[in-house]
Amino acid sequence: MIQWSACPRCDYTNIKKIAESPKEGVWDVYRCPRCNYVWRSTENLDSIHKYDEELAKRAQRPFRERG
Ligand SMILES: [Zn+2]
Repeated sequence: MIQWSACPRCDYTNIKKIAESPKEGVWDVYRCPRCNYVWRSTENLDSIHKYDEELAKRAQRPFRERG
């Protein structure tokens, strides 16, 4: 199984594992806290659209600190 160490979309390295397969070691689900992308470890993401920071700035509200 592929071990992910960075977000396939924005290359952020502090990704979180949020779920595991019921049968151990089949797949994991990861989430990127930077671009909110969620993917399963077994997905083929070679042709993924890379996160475009400039486009995101125009399309989304800016990130805000909580509180
Ligand atoms: Zn990301």
